[in-house]
Amino acid sequence: MNIILLGAPGAGKGSQAAKLKEYYGIPHISTGDAFRSNIARGTEIGIYAKSFMDKGQLVPDDVVVRIVAARLAEEDCKKGFLLDGFPRSIPQAEALEKLTKVDYVINFVVDPATVIARLGGRRSCVCGETYHVSTHPSPICDKCGATLFVRDDDKEEIILNRLAVYEKTTAPLQDFYAKRGVLVNVDAAKSVDEVFEEIKSILG
Ligand code: AMP
Repeated sequence: MNIILLGAPGAGKGSQAAKLKEYYGIPHISTGDAFRSNIARGTEIGIYAKSFMDKGQLVPDDVVVRIVAARLAEEDCKKGFLLDGFPRSIPQAEALEKLTKVDYVINFVVDPATVIARLGGRRSCVCGETYHVSTHPSPICDKCGATLFVRDDDKEEIILNRLAVYEKTTAPLQDFYAKRGVLVNVDAAKSVDEVFEEIKSILG
């Protein structure tokens, strides 16, 4: 099963991806995580991507497409995959069409106020776990014991920029995939468990 998780930053794609990966046993490919890992390792791609990410802008399509194409060519993607944060533009979606077929695009529908509240309180861990400060006030990760941090792009003015970029460049993908008959909407304002149940009922 080849699945795309589509939705604004903070819509809950990453939380669902972690659960879906476990449940269906398919790899979770997050382009944001790939860039953050490159930044942490100080690679050339990381240094280049950071200059866009820190402003809440998209990394240029050709760079992202190259990373995804290489990852999709790996053996574990043969049985399916979950794409989280890719594609984010029409040219990226067109490039993906040349690489593989897409079975489902799960569209996370949520209003901007909810997204701002979620991202504004998000605390992240190097292990990939995320928390919300209101439900997890401790600065320590429950999973690995590391100290949590606020992502540079989770600062308020950057959040607003990311949302504007989403509306302008990424939201048109809803139409793109609806026309191909693969778009399914989920109400992403619900709890993580409720959204997970909804997605499972769609994917079967
Ligand atoms: P995310 O973790 O998915 O919110 O991504 C964090 C940041 O990485 C984004 O705000 C972009 O700057 C960059 N990024 C991630 N995925 C893509 C993509 N498909 N296209 C362009 N930039 C991306």
